[in-house]
Amino acid sequence: MDRIRAVEAIPLAAPGEIGAYGGPYGLLVRITTDDGIIGWGEADSHPAMLKAAIEGANHFDGMSGLAAVLTGRDALDIAGAWQAMEDATLNIGRDGITRMAMAAIDIALWDIAGKAAGKPVHALLGTQQHSAFPWYGTCGLGPTLDETAKLAAWLKASGAKAGKFGWTPLGSGSAADDEAIVATLRETLGPDIAILIDGGLAFDTERAIARARMMGCYGIHWFEEALAPYDRDGYRRLRRVSPVTITAGEMASSATELIGLITHGCVDVVQIDLARTGITQAMRIAEAAERHGVACVNHTYTLGWNTAASLHVMAVIPKVDLFEVQVLPNPLRDSMMRVTPRAESERIHVPDAPGLGVEPDPDALDRYTVRVA
Ligand SMILES: [Mg+2]
Repeated sequence: MDRIRAVEAIPLAAPGEIGAYGGPYGLLVRITTDDGIIGWGEADSHPAMLKAAIEGANHFDGMSGLAAVLTGRDALDIAGAWQAMEDATLNIGRDGITRMAMAAIDIALWDIAGKAAGKPVHALLGTQQHSAFPWYGTCGLGPTLDETAKLAAWLKASGAKAGKFGWTPLGSGSAADDEAIVATLRETLGPDIAILIDGGLAFDTERAIARARMMGCYGIHWFEEALAPYDRDGYRRLRRVSPVTITAGEMASSATELIGLITHGCVDVVQIDLARTGITQAMRIAEAAERHGVACVNHTYTLGWNTAASLHVMAVIPKVDLFEVQVLPNPLRDSMMRVTPRAESERIHVPDAPGLGVEPDPDALDRYTVRVA
């Protein structure tokens, strides 16, 4: 049996600002086994809080940092590790930060399982349905229509076939203001590039329904996260009348919450952020989605481990939609990976190396690790 020797949380930060999201950030988990296999995972949330959830002391087994209950366990017993982590967080909070920390550990354990078996992670998850995906680039919006047009023109020039735009100023002005944004995007991108609109949680149900009807006139591919997370009644009403595909889910970390969106008829497409749910929960969510005829997509803001984990999970799900790729510069994301899946002209390919098939760049890892004295 190959046992878990160490579980380390590595917070990352790089200089600069990424729009409204502050400085580039990240949180890696590195798990080392007695046999010397190293697995990597990541979580997308506040790095220092995640580190505390992972490396905090064991007060008792129902209120413990995660590493303390994993050390010495069989590295290949991922279901057992998940149960131990659920038990350890009973008195800390069974969702949010603790769940996202569990996600990073879960991804690292699947990386180890693949490396131990000499197989890509998708081969351990099920039957491969896809070897590559059409992708979209995520762009945000400019503060003015001119800036938005420049952003859209840049995306088009890059060769992308689909782009996602949204958050402020969408939803902060009138209906006419929002329509002008959508019209500018369509005019700049032309009829052949798919446009995805991220509502950025800006709308109540009535306004979201009105915006969805407007977007229907512009052939918008999907309308994402229009409402507060997760107003099930509102989403169900929106989905019922919207001419545009309704998408949500990126903020959630628990399978329970995401399966609730699916079973309550809230979404046509469910977004799964692997760096918040982990792979084990994602497979449960995908099963529920398949039963209800809902498509799955990734949500990927952070680093290459999220991208790779998403590719492996989506590879075994029959019904998927476009794959999200971050295209705006981010020094952390752009330098952290020595091996990482890259979007090519029209498709992004599922890795086939053992494990997740991604590895960190040692120099970037050293440079951007936040060391607390
Ligand atoms: Mg979004």
